[in-house]
Amino acid sequence: MVIKSAELETVCGITSKLPENTFPEIAFAGKSNVGKSSLINGLLNRKSLARTSASPGKTQTINFYNINKNLYFVDLPGYGYAKVSQEIRNKWGKMIERYLHASTQLKAVLLLVDIRHAPGENDVTMYNWIVANGYEPVIIATKLDKIKRSQKDKNIKVIRETLGCGKETKIIPFSAVSKQGKEEIWNLIEDSIQT
Ligand code: GDP
Repeated sequence: MVIKSAELETVCGITSKLPENTFPEIAFAGKSNVGKSSLINGLLNRKSLARTSASPGKTQTINFYNINKNLYFVDLPGYGYAKVSQEIRNKWGKMIERYLHASTQLKAVLLLVDIRHAPGENDVTMYNWIVANGYEPVIIATKLDKIKRSQKDKNIKVIRETLGCGKETKIIPFSAVSKQGKEEIWNLIEDSIQT
């Protein structure tokens, strides 16, 4: 995909009304620090359109990025954020669920997990929410450059088993450093918005 334009169009807080977009939406979910901003920036060839965790004052919002005026990337709030109280976390969980339930344009959900570790309880919960809302998430296993090539298959197997996903679920390893996996992810996005 040639990126002609990419801009942050709508930012939703806990009480905000979600936009009723008419273009297809691709959602990105994952715990804080998993590499979600880096993936979004990498896919869009931007350095800092999506704010990384290192940015001071990163707030927990649902961010809608308008891409080429015909597609949205929906950056869901990173969960498991240590500094946030349980009450706020529960509210965020509800907001993510509300979005998954309400969106009429959502074509694919990308769930990010770190390729180095087995997914945690929050990741399994997120996976199950996505499935419960009728979507089969595509798993993006981030930070591929941080493991040895020989560990890849074994780690992917652990991710698959921990999340409890079947063979039909795609798991795409990605590195924001080498950009490995970028083309496969774009192909998948393009396929999902065509249907
Ligand atoms: P977010 O909180 O999910 O948006 O995560 P960020 O994109 O901010 O990434 C968190 C940290 O991991 C940052 O220091 C990134 O530079 C780093 N990071 C993200 N993706 C990769 C990757 O593919 N490889 C490596 N080596 N580091 C990464």
